[in-house]
Order: sequence, then C-alpha cells, then structure tokens
Amino acid sequence: MSAILQNINDIKEDILKHSPNPDKVKLVGVTKYVDTEIMLEAFNSGITIMGENRVQVLREKYEILKEHNIEWHLIGQLQKNKIKYIIDYISMIHSVDSLSLAEEIDKKAEKAGRTVDILLEVNISNEESKSGYSVSELLGDCNSLKTLKNINIRGLMTMAPLTDNEMVIRNVFRGLAELRNSLNNDYFDGSLQELSMGMSNDYKIALEEGATLIRLGTKIFK
Ligand SMILES: *Cc1c(COP(=O)(O)O)cnc(C)c1O
Repeated sequence: MSAILQNINDIKEDILKHSPNPDKVKLVGVTKYVDTEIMLEAFNSGITIMGENRVQVLREKYEILKEHNIEWHLIGQLQKNKIKYIIDYISMIHSVDSLSLAEEIDKKAEKAGRTVDILLEVNISNEESKSGYSVSELLGDCNSLKTLKNINIRGLMTMAPLTDNEMVIRNVFRGLAELRNSLNNDYFDGSLQELSMGMSNDYKIALEEGATLIRLGTKIFK
C-alpha cells in the first residue's frame, strides 16, 4: 500500500474513533506542500476535496487537474482583487473574515451566475497575529451577511493557536462550536452546519469537539 493511502486509512480510523458524528466529517486534503502529480495520487486514493491557501497556486493546479472531479477549497486569505481568478470553479471559501470581502464574493458570484459556499473565519483565541473575525465584529455583521443572495454561509472556520496545551486548543474548538450554535439560534435559523477546524497536529481534538471539515496536509503527505 502507498504511504498516502496508508495515511488516509489511518485518518479514516481516527474519524470513526474521535468524532461523535463520523458520517458528517469530510477530509480536506491540504495540498500546498505537493505538486499536481502527488495530488493525482491522493485523488486516486480517495481525496476528492483539495484545499490550497494561495489563489495563484490553486489556479495553476486547477488548470492542470481540471478534468478530474476535484472539489476545490480555498483555505487561506483572499484579497478582493483575486476573487475573479477562482470564482467560476471554487467550491468553498473557508477564510471569509469581513463583510466587505463577503459582499465582493457575492457580487462576483452573481456575475458568474452561481452561488458560492463560504465559511466565516473566526479568531476565537483573539491572537493578534491571526486572521479571522473577532466574535464581536462578526456579531455586528450577521444581519448584513444574511442578506447576500449569491453566497451560502455554511458554517465557521478557525485555527487553534500553536501550543502543546491541549486544554487551550480544545477550548478554542469548543468555543467555535458554541458560537455556531448561538449564531444558528439568533441569526441563521440552523443553516450553519459546518465547522472547519483541526489540522495535522490537533485534528483528533477538533473531531471530538464536532469538526465536520478537517484540513490535513502533513498528516497525508509527510
Ligand atoms: C497548511 C494549512 C493546513 C494544513 O496544515 P498541516 O499541519 O500540514 O495539516 C490547514 N489549514 C490551513 C489554513 C493551512 O494553511
């Protein structure tokens, strides 16, 4: 068995072991470390969702792999002037962290004649270095976000701080799940179903706290 396939099988076992709802969990293969040849090997091993953090790279890889049935996710920061490069084929944007970005994606999606799934990225731990909405900013924007017709707000995304302290990481993921629940009650009528949280070093904790999208690079491709 190839190393990639072995890694994927290990991750599937971890999903069954750690998630309260394993059927709801999707694995996003984060491909920023590898070329399209390796990506194709991963695709043939069952990775159908691929996440890239840079628009330019995503676009280049899409051009090479577009005849394959890959679901492309953007997981890194998005500048407004780059939306046009991915709007026709992007399946989900995990990193929407302002109303103005959401409005611009909405506008470009309308022009492209489609709707785009997005996640709202939240800086739960309030680290200064991190991207993402603060909770208070997000609460202030919810009523406006709801009015945008060409984006589907599917849930929330976060990144845990880099630490070995498991309780700190767990509290961030639990905080995101609780925020999702309260936003569903107060604004979104239950439509926020996704929680994108968990990377190679913390995905088991994220699964235990209800992650539905885990974003793994190193764990698959190391
Ligand atoms: C790189 C990256 C990942 C994957 O990181 P690994 O530790 O290699 O699994 C996940 N999410 C984001 C936003 C990333 O930039």
